[in-house]
Amino acid sequence: MAKQSSNRPSGHKHKKQFGQNFLNNGHIINQIVASIRPQSDDHMVEIGPGEAALTTPLIDVVKRLEIIEIDNDLIGPLKIRFASKPAFNLHHTDALQFDYGSLLEFEPEQPLRIVGNLPYNISSPLMFHLLKYSDHIQDMHFMLQKEVVDRITAQPGIKAYGRLSVMIQYACQTEYLFTVGPENFTPPPKVESAIVRLLPYKQKPYIADDETTFAEVVKQAFSQKRKTLRNTLKGWLDAEQIESCGISPTARAETVSVEKFVELANLYQKIKLQSSE
Ligand code: SAM
Repeated sequence: MAKQSSNRPSGHKHKKQFGQNFLNNGHIINQIVASIRPQSDDHMVEIGPGEAALTTPLIDVVKRLEIIEIDNDLIGPLKIRFASKPAFNLHHTDALQFDYGSLLEFEPEQPLRIVGNLPYNISSPLMFHLLKYSDHIQDMHFMLQKEVVDRITAQPGIKAYGRLSVMIQYACQTEYLFTVGPENFTPPPKVESAIVRLLPYKQKPYIADDETTFAEVVKQAFSQKRKTLRNTLKGWLDAEQIESCGISPTARAETVSVEKFVELANLYQKIKLQSSE
């Protein structure tokens, strides 16, 4: 049974399990839509429409709006309000499991624009899932916990810099747009939120020879944040090999740039291939 934290005039009971903090401030909604800059030719995807705070200003502008919502109780009201709109296309499903590639059938050459005030409990796995489709995504605008946006956009040497920063910045340009306080949601979340813009690179500045290996090396390097690379990468790369990438073996992962992580991963991949020959 879902926990319910408050009721709406609409009768909808917010479900904590689905991270339902609905936007209640028209000014903030306008600010988000202005940042997204929807265009008449857009093929847009909104994750988690809820009671349509963002859906309403988007649906009359764009060519097609794919709406992904998991909560059964919200599906009927969304259909009643929007089914007659030409852009409306509703998917009653889990955004974490959804095959975003299937949307390309509508117009194969056109990249998707993804937006959402995301349920905070699934935001990191959802972004990792979406990155698999980054070649087919024009941009993403998300409302997330401010702390998560700080991590996504952090540069090396800053405390917030971690695995999420490296993995997202490998694939996308990131931009912290603005902070949104808890009072702009019903019910108010316990923490501040922020809007982030992610622009997947058409051509990545640094290319990992094998992206799975890259992800593994990054994960391993950050597995114990306080330890030096020589320690965290023991059994993967030795001090000399780390140094050959222009990185001090006594450095910690939080000081290593995306470019250097790619070099480490490519060296590890090369050594792995040589030892299996
Ligand atoms: N967009 C609305 C707004 O800004 O007021 C609602 C945002 S609310 C933070 C998150 C929405 O995502 C809810 O409608 C919730 O039911 C939906 N949601 C939660 N988990 C989901 C999932 N795994 N897949 C799709 N939608 C999900």
